[in-house]
Amino acid sequence: MHVRKENRRLSVNFSKQGTCLIVPCFFKNHINKLNMLLDEFVFKIASRCNLNCSYCYMYNMGDNTYLKQPKVMSIDTVHAFARALKRHCQNNAIRRVDIAFHGGEPLLAGKDLIRETVKIINETVVDVEVKYVIQTNGTLLDDDWMDLFNELDIQVGISIDGPKKFHDMYRVYHNNKGSFDEVVKGVNVRNNKSIGGLISVVNIKIPPKDLFDFYLSLNARSVNLLLPDCHYDNLPDGMAKLRDKREAKYGDWLIELYDIWVSYEKKGRPKIPYFENIIGMILGLEKGDELIGKRKNKALTIETDGAIEVVDPLRICENGFTRNELNVHKNEISDIEELPIYQMYYNSHERLCAKCNACPIQTICGGGYLGHRYSRSNGFDNASIYCNDIMKMVSHIQRDIFSRLPENILHDLHLEAISYDELFEQTNTL
Ligand code: SF4
Ligand code: SF4
Repeated sequence: MHVRKENRRLSVNFSKQGTCLIVPCFFKNHINKLNMLLDEFVFKIASRCNLNCSYCYMYNMGDNTYLKQPKVMSIDTVHAFARALKRHCQNNAIRRVDIAFHGGEPLLAGKDLIRETVKIINETVVDVEVKYVIQTNGTLLDDDWMDLFNELDIQVGISIDGPKKFHDMYRVYHNNKGSFDEVVKGVNVRNNKSIGGLISVVNIKIPPKDLFDFYLSLNARSVNLLLPDCHYDNLPDGMAKLRDKREAKYGDWLIELYDIWVSYEKKGRPKIPYFENIIGMILGLEKGDELIGKRKNKALTIETDGAIEVVDPLRICENGFTRNELNVHKNEISDIEELPIYQMYYNSHERLCAKCNACPIQTICGGGYLGHRYSRSNGFDNASIYCNDIMKMVSHIQRDIFSRLPENILHDLHLEAISYDELFEQTNTL
């Protein structure tokens, strides 16, 4: 039985009967070129790193343009950004922005520069709530740093990939030594003084149970899972070019982790936004982020020289892919709206290939993360390299959610879960 295509824009539209479970979502299909709401800033306060992770999109995925960037942002550029941000908020009636200190490794900027940056922004951009986070590899984090972050009200996110043996496969220093011991020390320092999340790049070699137990051992409150930054011309570990058509190793791995996570007592388990967003969307809520869902992508990057760019994980596509002429020293932040690459990113969950447009779960998946759709031959006009994986995982979670609903609701709403095989067949016979 097939899902009715005419219902595919409903938020929960992929039961076999094509029935919307709770709320219809009215996502427009046109391209919004102007009046974008840009309020998330990835702020590159430092452009180098004390680590050299083998999968790093900054240094090891074919883009070497970081070499032309200043190692840290100058005070002059911080001032220019703060003034541009003030105008941007005034012109667009923005009342709240998120600023994520990023690198490279942002702690390499030093405490004085970070303190001064927050001071300059707060004193310049008045009447706007500014929320700060810092995303660090954790190796340099100590009590003094945490005192500063608490003083400045900066939340701290730390990247850690799993138990030592697995973390040290990829997250290494420039001399190839693993960084696990220092990162765990950093996580414990952070946990003693503040709350914050973890970020992990999915490694399907880690048994999901070991990973979940590891998160529990670190008292993780929240874990953002990232699929490896890869595309059609550079596939991730374990994904063969001529893979069996239905193979979904990443999906299988995510399903195993989901089952462990969802059956653990809710109070004691870490939040996993990737799963929570999918559950929310299955229940008809408007959820999602740049990885999944239908929301607009509102983030942009400010480089150490003040360049205004699309988010930099897209560097995996080609050398210099994210570069342009815009800079806070001479441009308005919203000038980035005119760039085709930014329009594509902002609308990435709307600008989909034919396969995604016909996919019964596109209101949940939104074609996945933009970078994962890239190929040299076709640009972004592809389904995600993780398409099978997302289909398999989402259909599994849908089945699990439906199994928790009372029979009479399923019956009255004509809800019946759709299987991975059905999804696969429907999208691969176009
Ligand atoms: S810590 Fe982050 S920025 Fe540094 S090498 Fe690793 S992935 Fe890249
Ligand atoms: S990437 Fe695959 S699962 Fe996602 S919308 Fe496209 S076809 Fe559907």
